[in-house]
Amino acid sequence: MAQNRKRKVELLNAYFFICPECGTTNYGRGCTNEMAQEDIDQLKIDLGIELDEPGEFYFLPEEVACEACLKEFDVEPGPDDIDQK
Ligand SMILES: [Zn+2]
Repeated sequence: MAQNRKRKVELLNAYFFICPECGTTNYGRGCTNEMAQEDIDQLKIDLGIELDEPGEFYFLPEEVACEACLKEFDVEPGPDDIDQK
C-alpha cells in the first residue's frame, strides 16, 4: 500500500503574527529552553500538571521581527502567560 510508504513527520508548536507595518504573516517556532528537571517539575506543580504527564514546555520570544520589512516589535503578553508573583 502506498500509504504505508509515506514518511512520518512530527508536528511542532509554532506561533505566528501579522506584521502591523506591511501585513506579512510571519511564522516562528517556540523554543524548548534547556531546563533542569527540578525546574520542570516545579513548573508542573505550579501549573497543576501531573509530574508524569508527557510533553514539553515551549517558550515564546519577547520580541519578534518581520521577515519582509525587518521591523521589530515587542510581543504583548498572551492570555496563557503565567502571572509570576
Ligand atoms: Zn512587515
